[in-house]
Formats: sequence, structure tokens, C-alpha cells
Amino acid sequence: MNICGYIPESVNEGDGLRAVVFISGCRHGCSGCFSRHTWSFQAGERFTDKLQQQLIDEMMQNPLLDGLTIAGGDPFFSAIEVSGFVQQVRQQIPDFSIWIYSGYTWEQLIQSSVEGEVSLLHLCDVLIDGRFIEQQRDVSLRYRGSRNQRIIDIQQSIIQNKPVLCQSSDMYDNNADINAMTTLT
Ligand code: SF4
Repeated sequence: MNICGYIPESVNEGDGLRAVVFISGCRHGCSGCFSRHTWSFQAGERFTDKLQQQLIDEMMQNPLLDGLTIAGGDPFFSAIEVSGFVQQVRQQIPDFSIWIYSGYTWEQLIQSSVEGEVSLLHLCDVLIDGRFIEQQRDVSLRYRGSRNQRIIDIQQSIIQNKPVLCQSSDMYDNNADINAMTTLT
């Protein structure tokens, strides 16, 4: 597994102040993708155990951080390796929230038979799901590129056996936005 980026502090990839790790590799091929440089699984550098621990140490030393976001590429193409990293974060920084992006939808991931994908989903708190759809692009959206993408509360969705949107009001731009997302569930 390679990473093609790391941001120690960001407010753009999830609620609060978050560290962001970009996992290399994506096969979704969304038209209009702004991250084509992340499609190659060889992009960036090896995410070795040493580098993983280095980033965890750095996150632990920043008391302002609310959590970690894992973006890409699509981290679910490297689900087993990413799960190992997330488990380390969970053990060492238990109060961190963990958000994860995927071009797959909730429905695809929760029913996936690909080894590691369901496990990775269970390890995280929030999923931003779905491919980027150029025709639904909206630069006013928080944390998302297109209107089809949803901000999903993973643990509540598992309990209720359906995709449950995060309800924090400041994640959405207006009621029309959240209503549009709700109709997709
Ligand atoms: S899932 Fe994300 S990184 Fe992959 S092609 Fe789509 S927009 Fe690009």
C-alpha cells in the first residue's frame, strides 16, 4: 500500500480539525475526477509500518485534532492494509473519530464479498460514499464533490440496517441539501 498525501490539519475533509491520509489507487475512473494522480497504486511512497507509526505519533502530539480522515484514491481498494492502520489508530488514539471516503456506495460496501471491505467499514465512524458525478457537481457542498454523495453514520447504519445520514446540522448547506440526500436512501 502506498500513500500519495498527508495533511496534518484540515477542516475540509470532515467535521472539526482532522489529519488526512490519502491512500494511493483507484479504479472507479469517475469522469471529471480532480485526483487522477491518485489512481495509480504506485503513486506516492510505501506506507510502511514505520511511516504509519510516525504519522500516528504526530497525530497523538496534536491536541487540537478531532480525528483522522482516510481519503484517496479509494482506500477500499486496499481494505486489508488500511484496516491494519485504522486498528493501530484506534488502539493508540481511542478518542479519535475516523472518517473514510469511497467511490463505492454504502449498499455496495456493506454487501461486499471482497475480503476486508466490510471489516474496514465497521472500523470507521463516518463514510462519504459514491462516485463523483460531474453532472451533480456542486462546489457549495461540505466535504463532498457531487450531490449524490452522502455523509453516512456507519455505526447507526449497521444498527438500523440501512444508510443513516449524519444529522449534525453544520454538515449540510441547507434543508434542500439534506432532503436531496435523504431521497437516495
Ligand atoms: S472515486 Fe474519487 S479518486 Fe476515484 S475516480 Fe472517483 S473521484 Fe477520482
